[in-house]
Amino acid sequence: MTDLYRLLPEEMEQLVIDMGYPRYRADQILLPLYYKFPKNISELKQLPKEMREKLIEAGYTIGSAKEIHRVVSDDGDTTKLLLNLTDETSIETVLIQYPSSKINGHPRSTICVSTQIGCAMKCVFCATGQMGFEKNIKAEEIVAQVIHFADILQQRGEHVTNLVFMGMGEPMANYDEMIRAVRILTHDRGFGIGQRNITISTIGIVSGIDKLAEENLQIGLAISLHAPNNELRKKLVPTAGPNSVEDIIEAGRRYYKKTGRRVTFEYALMAGINDSSEIATELAILLKGNGSHVNLIPINPTAGDFKRPTQDNVNEFEQILSNAGVNCTVRVEKGIEISAACGQLRTDIIG
Ligand code: SF4
Repeated sequence: MTDLYRLLPEEMEQLVIDMGYPRYRADQILLPLYYKFPKNISELKQLPKEMREKLIEAGYTIGSAKEIHRVVSDDGDTTKLLLNLTDETSIETVLIQYPSSKINGHPRSTICVSTQIGCAMKCVFCATGQMGFEKNIKAEEIVAQVIHFADILQQRGEHVTNLVFMGMGEPMANYDEMIRAVRILTHDRGFGIGQRNITISTIGIVSGIDKLAEENLQIGLAISLHAPNNELRKKLVPTAGPNSVEDIIEAGRRYYKKTGRRVTFEYALMAGINDSSEIATELAILLKGNGSHVNLIPINPTAGDFKRPTQDNVNEFEQILSNAGVNCTVRVEKGIEISAACGQLRTDIIG
């Protein structure tokens, strides 16, 4: 079985040619796939009936993920879907909307996609990390997460404006499927979202960062740093292994040099762990002058025992970085009450 959402437009053309049909038939598949979101091949009405039958006979399908549960935050801005994949495993995907931030008259609508079920990185403060690793998901299953929300938004006259690869899993640990999905989603004959509207977040897999830099894409990169030194970082990210803080910062510099895209360092602030003024100073010294941006994320309630710092502590931490000339913001979290915020995704509990 091959999901048509797995194919790049060039591959779709090759498929129709190999089946003995003219090239334009590929567009008669691609246009509905990315504008009408059909649920099965029978809905591709522009194709001759016999071509639809041949596709089905040859094992092509549409729809590698089915929605089985949906929760919406009290303010209506955050929606979390639980999607069932064809092998009966499930995955979470989140839509975060910012009604006050309009793009061409539409609210900014960001989809946070997952690239793995569970995660092997075991970050101690992350609900996904506590699940352990279950499996890598396929490109079409990543694309399906976006398509599900695109369909929901289209019914409201809205559309997907941004994608962040910040859901369950480490994108660089499923690199080939992740990058195939990115190419489909950004292709002008595919989903067609702008490369600059996508951010890939990594815990700091240096080999993956370097590989991404060579892809000739204008994708944003976010690196989850969480500590300015290796001793503390290893306690928070036990699998940090060969990727030292220094190596990660260097990889960020190389990415910026190669792509011209400013790198964001994500920093989950945990009370009494990594939120002191001394640590803020150490982080400021580390990042000063490298043109990057720091996103401070006061930790969310998760399975772990970590506590959110007080607002005064967050402000002080931010001030120390800003005073040192390090560009810094505090992330406004959404969807905490439905466990849809950063570090809260896992598939055994929803709601
Ligand atoms: S924070 Fe990201 S890399 Fe770490 S365990 Fe969670 S999903 Fe994996």
